[in-house]
Amino acid sequence: MSISNNILHHIENFTAQRDKELLAFSLLKSIRDILNPIRISILTLNGQDEPIMEISLSNGESCDYRYQDIKVSDSTRASLDYINTWHLDELMKAHDDQYTSFHVLQQSRQLNQYLIITLDNKPSRSESYIIKGMLSIYSNFSSLLADAQTDELTGLMNRKTFEESIIKLYQGSAFSELTDSHTNWIAIIDLDHFKVINDKAGHLYGDEVLIHVSRVLRQTFRQDDMLFRFGGEEFVVLMRNLTRQECADLVDQFRTSVQEIAMHDLEPITISAGICEFLNDTFHITLMDHADQALYYSKQNGRNRITFYDEIVEAGLAKQNNVTHGDIDFF
Ligand code: GH3
Ligand code: MG
Ligand code: MG
Repeated sequence: MSISNNILHHIENFTAQRDKELLAFSLLKSIRDILNPIRISILTLNGQDEPIMEISLSNGESCDYRYQDIKVSDSTRASLDYINTWHLDELMKAHDDQYTSFHVLQQSRQLNQYLIITLDNKPSRSESYIIKGMLSIYSNFSSLLADAQTDELTGLMNRKTFEESIIKLYQGSAFSELTDSHTNWIAIIDLDHFKVINDKAGHLYGDEVLIHVSRVLRQTFRQDDMLFRFGGEEFVVLMRNLTRQECADLVDQFRTSVQEIAMHDLEPITISAGICEFLNDTFHITLMDHADQALYYSKQNGRNRITFYDEIVEAGLAKQNNVTHGDIDFF
């Protein structure tokens, strides 16, 4: 294949992706095919500069996702610090006959993402030019994708994205690093008496409340917890690798923080939540039904509280039916 056909082929691949991580994979593969690097990865750091995700290409066709125990060498750290201090888009470092280039993919207060390529030769001018082009296509397309996956009002992930994300959790490494006591959890969170807030203060005010609640969600949960606005005044959180107690503490901390949202005149805003363990061998629709039953229990028993599904199982109150799509009414 000629070089221009080859590049067109990679661009075609990029734009065929409907998913952020597959897009990242496509980027890594394209650059590997063109430059044949020694190493190539995408590193994501959170607002505190701690590594939260690393995507690298393993030998075959598969991509390696790491969320824990990500090692960042001192020299990489120093290069990233340099990029940030001088607001650079990229940086090239030569060391022991190897050339490592760092490219900024995304930069915000909460998240910094870099593409890191190590080569055994210095990239030619045309190779650098191709990388630049690939990166700008990647960046344009990933912002388009982000728009499609984001809820407009709150900036959280939307319901459409939830299904894709949860399926990826089943397929991916979400369970590999877990021990008996640390597992994954799903929480459904619903604002209490939101209709009253809307009726008393108006829809615009209601929208403002939703924005404040989303901010508290982001502040309370950890960087790699996944936050969705599921519809109306309902949110879903997927939490990785927590003990039951840690999960309860986190959701309860959110519950109390929401009450501190300062909005004039009205009663404090409260939420109810239903939580269940994310079991690898249970269909996610069933898991959502379990969390929903727990939420229903919270609503029926005073609101402004959290309930775990196994509590209602123990109390003999759970409906043990495995559900189909039609049974759940989230709106
Ligand atoms: P409960 O404690 O049982 O959950 O009562 P609730 O009033 O919160 O629940 P209900 O489902 O009766 O009402 C939800 C309300 O949320 C009704 C709907 O008008 C409102 N709503 C849904 N989406 C939006 C939105 O985007 N903005 C605003 N302001 N209101 C919304
Ligand atoms: Mg409600
Ligand atoms: Mg609701």
